[in-house]
Amino acid sequence: MTRCILYTTAQASPKYRQTYVRRLTKNLNEKRVRKIVYLCDDDLLGMAVMLFGDQNKPLSWYKEAAMFTQGMYDFGQRKPSLIFMNPSAFTYNRQDFSLILAHELQHANDLYAGLSIGGRRRLTRTTLDSIQPQMFTAILESRANMTLIAAAERRGIDSDIVRESTMRLSKSVYETKNTTPVNNLESSLIAEHHRLIENFFTTPAGRFTLNLIERLRQECSTSMEGVSKPVPEYDDR
Ligand SMILES: [Zn+2]
Repeated sequence: MTRCILYTTAQASPKYRQTYVRRLTKNLNEKRVRKIVYLCDDDLLGMAVMLFGDQNKPLSWYKEAAMFTQGMYDFGQRKPSLIFMNPSAFTYNRQDFSLILAHELQHANDLYAGLSIGGRRRLTRTTLDSIQPQMFTAILESRANMTLIAAAERRGIDSDIVRESTMRLSKSVYETKNTTPVNNLESSLIAEHHRLIENFFTTPAGRFTLNLIERLRQECSTSMEGVSKPVPEYDDR
């Protein structure tokens, strides 16, 4: 029987993390996740990236991520995926750790099922080449960040992770709204995505996001005071 290990114990002692993560996989009981893997050192990280990473992402990206989901080569094939955790995942408190995991679970979900392009049609591995890579990334990231923010709103969490995800969500929404689709498939995907976003902003999590954006905007303009003052006009008297 696996001993019950608390998050704080795994956080304090790396030797308990493998067991903690094993139990986490079990408790998730999520058919879309094959396993959560703890990468205790750089050798293991290098191996994981070589075997399961996305070839377009540099190793440095994987090193900096607290958690990441395997590459998209099985996108929409209804196969469960692996979620990886770096030691830095355990530098967060338990609430933020669970929010980052919620973000990755959305990636695992999308990887499993593909993305809706309206009606019963779905974007999968075979049609993925028709989508601009940066567009695909912006859509996946906004979906994962909406999930994270919705989880934070339900649990009443307002932390740096939530703020960061809110800013990232705004950025990816801007990107998807300002990129011209290159074909009909991409137009359908974007239209479907915008429907999802509009719907999100009518939910409590969406209102929470808008309030947070407004607060961040005010904080930003307060800290920019003096910086953005207009330059005095040239006086030639
Ligand atoms: Zn992500």
